[in-house]
Amino acid sequence: MTDITLKEVFKARKRIAPIVRTTPLIQAPQLSEQQGRPVHLKLENLQETGSFKLRGAANALLGLSDDEKARGVLAFSTGNHGRAVAWVARELNISCTICLSERVPAYRVAAMEAFGARVVQKGASQDDAYNVALALERDKGLTMVKPFDDPNVIAGQGTIGLEILEAVPEVDTLVVPVSGGGLAAGVARVLKAADPAIQVIGVSMEVAPAMYHSLKSGKPVEVTEKDSIADALLGGIGLDNAYTYPMVERYLDRIDLVSEAQIEKGMIFAHDHLGILIEGAAAVTLAWLLTHRCPGKSVVGILSGGNVDTGLLFDILARHNKPNP
Ligand SMILES: *Cc1c(COP(=O)(O)O)cnc(C)c1O
Repeated sequence: MTDITLKEVFKARKRIAPIVRTTPLIQAPQLSEQQGRPVHLKLENLQETGSFKLRGAANALLGLSDDEKARGVLAFSTGNHGRAVAWVARELNISCTICLSERVPAYRVAAMEAFGARVVQKGASQDDAYNVALALERDKGLTMVKPFDDPNVIAGQGTIGLEILEAVPEVDTLVVPVSGGGLAAGVARVLKAADPAIQVIGVSMEVAPAMYHSLKSGKPVEVTEKDSIADALLGGIGLDNAYTYPMVERYLDRIDLVSEAQIEKGMIFAHDHLGILIEGAAAVTLAWLLTHRCPGKSVVGILSGGNVDTGLLFDILARHNKPNP
């Protein structure tokens, strides 16, 4: 059975406690009023490195053997997973290599290097960079840390579920962003164990929702890549997906899609009403809450990350919050 156990999640929590923050869970008054029931938000945008990815990365690296730690780790990611792996590797004194294509902008490379990672920038596309990573894994014996389809990563993300149950024990509806499904699978695994009646609603962006189309097709499928302001949700789930696809299929009640305009409104809502900056991938949760009627009596939404390009965010805010003439 390609699943994880609750025991693995409890073990992860103990293991990653020195590295990760227990993030705040706040009540959102405007959303609660609009929904006519309490809506809470789990602020993983305030997690160290700016996203929940730290939890899975920490659990994966702490689960390596001494020999694997000595040889070093490898990640292939332009975004939050790469940052998280680089950060944890530095904390644990493990050497870390990140493979990126030459098209990745310099500021992203600088962010990884600032965390002490060695960045190998080669090739014109993500696929080229991936092949460079595979060669390093094969030739140098580096350990590839996967972004979602790994039981240790899923168990690490699942620790969010434990924190939700402690802070809001009456939760009966969860709203969670979905890309590769590591976050949703881990948290849903925990909540459904506590009470199978808890509704778990995944949210993806309309333009390229790989997990959504895979569920519809009954197996992992590829989607054509498009741009989205929820850039951390882009990418496939892997045609050889072993864990997150079956877990999402089993533990999520459904996946809904939101538009780019709705995601923008979610980012603006976070700024205007919550006083926080979130990235597009996290804003899909607010986009859903602002446009759907929640089932249940007590809702928790996960705001998954805050690593937004401030230029982009200011453009969006300026466009929407025009001063009164
Ligand atoms: C990676 C990521 C997601 C999606 O997580 P998956 O485990 O791939 O489904 C959502 N939000 C942010 C901010 C992320 O970095």
